[in-house]
Amino acid sequence: MWYGGVSVVASSVGVMEGNLTVEQRREQIAAAREALAGFDGSLWQVPGGGGGGGGGLAGLLGEVDALGAMCEAAKVSIVAEAMERGETSEGAAAMTLTQWVRHHAPSTRAGGAGQLVAVAQEFGKPVNAPVVLAIRSGVLPVRSAAVVLAEADRLRPLLVEGAQPHVLAGLIEMAAQHGPRGCRMVRPALLARYGQDGELQTQQDVARRFVSLSQPVEDGTGTAEYRLVLDVEGKAVLEAALGPLSAPRPVQGDRDLRSCDQRRGEALVTLVRRAVAAGEQVGTNPKAQLVVTMDWESLVAGVRGAGVTVGGSDTGTILAPETVRRLACDASVVPVLLGSEGEVLDQGRAVRFFTPAQTRRLWLRDGGCTYPGCSMPPHWTDAHHLVHWADFGTSDLGNAALLCERHHTIVHSRRYAGQVVHGDAGERVEWDRTLGSYDQLLARRAAKEPA
Ligand SMILES: [Zn+2]
Ligand SMILES: [Zn+2]
Repeated sequence: MWYGGVSVVASSVGVMEGNLTVEQRREQIAAAREALAGFDGSLWQVPGGGGGGGGGLAGLLGEVDALGAMCEAAKVSIVAEAMERGETSEGAAAMTLTQWVRHHAPSTRAGGAGQLVAVAQEFGKPVNAPVVLAIRSGVLPVRSAAVVLAEADRLRPLLVEGAQPHVLAGLIEMAAQHGPRGCRMVRPALLARYGQDGELQTQQDVARRFVSLSQPVEDGTGTAEYRLVLDVEGKAVLEAALGPLSAPRPVQGDRDLRSCDQRRGEALVTLVRRAVAAGEQVGTNPKAQLVVTMDWESLVAGVRGAGVTVGGSDTGTILAPETVRRLACDASVVPVLLGSEGEVLDQGRAVRFFTPAQTRRLWLRDGGCTYPGCSMPPHWTDAHHLVHWADFGTSDLGNAALLCERHHTIVHSRRYAGQVVHGDAGERVEWDRTLGSYDQLLARRAAKEPA
């Protein structure tokens, strides 16, 4: 992964340094241009056969590409220098920096001048030294560097003290290997590792507000188009369910000719059909289980670290800790807890699920979601542990309450405490909707426990 960032960056420096004067450099640049001019005429001389040993077309492409990367790096350095000298704003016709770049580097008129300027403006700041080094050594293209700098800026206020250099190294490594997209994809991992308490959770909670499924758009061809936006949790759940259903299915030995997207689309409809047909039955489909690993400390503390999905097509999705605590409440997710050395700890606490018999009694007792004012029927609810499973809550009915997905999320994120009370009409669940009432409950329990 991205932890060894510095090593990759440092490996290709050195070769490029040297003590050339500017005049010598200009001569060599001219020589390089000459080498590339009319290139096509001599390509027939390149040996064929896949370019083993770097002598073929592949090796040549790499060499020319490395030259291109160095050209970009040189352009940023020149722009940064010109900026510092104030050259760009002098002269008869005053220009903006971007105009100046476009004027003197015509290839940037097709795009990229803005990024060149944005990166050059960040060049002088000591905190950005690793980015400058990566650009100069040709490892980090300017377009990726612009994303690294923007992303580092966004993350900076969210990090714990002293984490900035590690985060920058991680962003550089990911951007160098996978481009700007890699840089954005590593954000949750960086927040989980270096973010302030609760930061990853906050980001993922915010993302939940953007979840949507559009109305169908029909164009008369017999198809309907939807736009679906999910948060990482929704994606992990959907992918875990779609995985086994969307695998290719050969018919009598013939290859499944459906495209991947077609198989996924059909699997989604199958999934909905099954869910509707399951009706009022207890139980889940074991094939659709989502497995999440998380270290024990993070699960108990609930603010730091993160859970990571494993298995299936969606391995590696990072889930915020409170999300994993909520998911661990219900049987559709299997949490695998890891110790400090990565060893599996889960074995001793296997009784995490309410049994089907318990669940049936719970359905009778609660009759649906227990959140005040909610009318979601029992077969669309989760069985929540009133004292969370992660806090050593037991899987018995005195510690259980039915909650729909939405209210389950609210109860966990606002940390509401619930309790089973015995009234005239039998047992029912009562919720204390004071923010953090659950933490007060935990404190009272801890005080009662003998030391
Ligand atoms: Zn729960
Ligand atoms: Zn509800």
